[in-house]
Amino acid sequence: MTSLSGGIPDGRVPGASDRDGPVPDAERRPALVVVEHDGESPADSAFELLGAARGLPASRVVAVAPARDDRAGRAVAGVLPADEVRIVTGPALSPPTADRAAAAIHAVAADLDAGVILLPHTPFGWDTAPLLAARCGVAAATGCSSVGLTASGLHARRKVFQGKFVQEVHLSGRLLVATLEPGAASPVEPGAPKTVRGSEYPAEPETLLSRILELRAAPDTGTDLPGARVVVAAGRGLGGPENLAIVEDLAAALGGVVGASRAVTDAGWLPHDRQIGSSGVTVNPKLYVACGISGAIQHLVGMRGSGFVVAINRDPEAPIFGAADVGIVGDVLEIVPALTRAIRAASGA
Ligand code: FAD
Repeated sequence: MTSLSGGIPDGRVPGASDRDGPVPDAERRPALVVVEHDGESPADSAFELLGAARGLPASRVVAVAPARDDRAGRAVAGVLPADEVRIVTGPALSPPTADRAAAAIHAVAADLDAGVILLPHTPFGWDTAPLLAARCGVAAATGCSSVGLTASGLHARRKVFQGKFVQEVHLSGRLLVATLEPGAASPVEPGAPKTVRGSEYPAEPETLLSRILELRAAPDTGTDLPGARVVVAAGRGLGGPENLAIVEDLAAALGGVVGASRAVTDAGWLPHDRQIGSSGVTVNPKLYVACGISGAIQHLVGMRGSGFVVAINRDPEAPIFGAADVGIVGDVLEIVPALTRAIRAASGA
């Protein structure tokens, strides 16, 4: 399965037929990128969405950042290399509920006469996109792995049925909304925007559907699994929580983070925020090491974007080997410590 980079020459995806034709210059309109952030800096998704938007046939790329106040908005905007960054501010946007974010983005999209709006496929994005699309009276394609624009509309690809099939979606309309999966587009480098403009959040409480009663911080496990460059994942083949230490040692030797299959998190060996897969997180590391994981489709969909996959399993028929660049058939309890020793010896640690 291919993924879009920002560099598809005319902003089209495979599947868009010739009769669709490129968007004529005169009909190009702005592409709007929705920026998720923590009040200080943009999430990685913002740079990926800017990369995707640059590959589209748009008149210009504008980023929109709903923010608590102008100071937070400008801190975020300062590193976004867009033609323009629009900061929409208001206390109601700290953090924005999906319907407040949708209201703020809609106002900017209408003002710009945007042709396409890209959001990250994260809890924020997948909550906001349908509300935004409904507000705009247009269609949304969520969870896209690639997007392109032709004269007849938006072409997108998205994984369906737990990643077993790829669906090609064609949306026609004057404005189109899509969420892009993490890692689907090549990120742009941070840089200054050409222009930054601010506007007040258009308060309209009578149309809002939700409000935040209380915010509770999730326990800090000290790991950033979705953003990790190296992931060493533990499966049921480890035999029990007493053997997790060998996976933690290998992760430490590689400078990586420990992930897990659902069998491991369901058994309580590791917390649920370590779970990789369709009901866990998606990871896109450079290196993924699967230790005693069978390779069920629900697990594979969460790690398929990994750059290089090493699988260790004593069953030579285990499906994980079908997704691996290197497969080691053997006992994890022997191989994992041996790998750790070899890596430490090679690195002189
Ligand atoms: P198993 O399938 O039990 O595999 C263990 C593997 O270890 C086997 O291949 C075995 O050969 C090997 N093994 C055993 N002993 C050793 C040894 N000593 N040395 C080497 N190898 C050994 N799963 C996820 O991971 N993530 C999800 O998000 C997820 N979501 C799901 C959502 C739904 C709706 C459903 C129905 C299921 C979901 N699952 C998910 C569960 C998934 O189907 C599998 O059950 C799960 O991934 C299995 O985990 P596992 O590979 O660790 O365990």
